[in-house]
Amino acid sequence: MRDYIKRLLIAAIMALCVSLLFLGGKHTEASMNDSQVIKEEWIWPTNGVISDTYGTRHGKHKGIDIAGGLNSPVLAVEDGVVGKSYFSQTYGNVIFIKHPHDFVTVYAHLNKRLVSEGQKVKQGDQIGTMGKTGQSTGVHLHFETHQLEWTFDKKNAFNPEKLLGDTDVGLTVKAGAVSVGNPVLEVSSGLNSDKNHYVVQAGDTLTSIAHKNNTSVEKLKEFNQLSSDLIKPKQILVIEQ
Ligand SMILES: [Zn+2]
Repeated sequence: MRDYIKRLLIAAIMALCVSLLFLGGKHTEASMNDSQVIKEEWIWPTNGVISDTYGTRHGKHKGIDIAGGLNSPVLAVEDGVVGKSYFSQTYGNVIFIKHPHDFVTVYAHLNKRLVSEGQKVKQGDQIGTMGKTGQSTGVHLHFETHQLEWTFDKKNAFNPEKLLGDTDVGLTVKAGAVSVGNPVLEVSSGLNSDKNHYVVQAGDTLTSIAHKNNTSVEKLKEFNQLSSDLIKPKQILVIEQ
């Protein structure tokens, strides 16, 4: 009987070793995939100025905001298939694209959606135009990246900078530019150096901004689709179109 238990014990230990070996192997494979994925060359989805980055608003902002002109083309960052294309109360006109390696990208607040569910897209294809539909304070693209799938709690979201390169509020990005390894970002020396955009400072009013930029309050309101005179610091306004 003792012999039997001993043999059982040895068998159990061997099974444990084999499973550990198996798990270990799996793990190596997963990390190899990860490093492969990071080498992928995504492109920036639109032209504009970064107006907010990932993880702000007490960690609730799960994307990057790019402020630009109304109806600026919005491009697919990588080849893929359109998962969803619809209107949501919060995202507004929104498009979800599924990419290789189980990545999902989300393009929100679009003015127009130009692709439909199930459609195949190539990297750089125009999928829509920039807008301020849904819960949005100004014309901008809210761009999210997820791994495996998008979920309501956004638990699979990751910082798009991982694949697009580092960026920061106030920097200009160019649609179609690849930023992995070589910074595509045209770094402006100051936040106000980009002629087409103005970053609102504390104490600014639409009148003072219009005066500083040789434009009118009416034009500012039209370009930025503002329904009131209310503006807030760090908000990025389109000055010219
Ligand atoms: Zn956003």
